[in-house]
Amino acid sequence: MKLPKVVKRYCPSCRIRTEQKVKEQSSGRASTLKRGAKQRARLRGLNRGIGNKGRFSRLKNQAKMKRKTTKKTALVYTCTICGKGKDQKKGKRTGKLVLE
Ligand SMILES: [Zn+2]
Repeated sequence: MKLPKVVKRYCPSCRIRTEQKVKEQSSGRASTLKRGAKQRARLRGLNRGIGNKGRFSRLKNQAKMKRKTTKKTALVYTCTICGKGKDQKKGKRTGKLVLE
């Protein structure tokens, strides 16, 4: 999906329509001890023993784990006049976001 780098939209702190920079929010890194994480299952002792442990068993192909090909893009709008009006908005599902 193609999006412009600068958009004119309403700024709540300036209370007028201003030019705002569009940026994609970085997803950061997922917590290692999240619920359903493999590391938590390992602490419970799920990775030991004989037999198939379902999704906690070792997968040969890591690409099989990744099912979804698109993500909802979280956009951050920064006002060019006051600079603080950071507004987040979840966009549509896109494979790759290109800012022009
Ligand atoms: Zn502003």
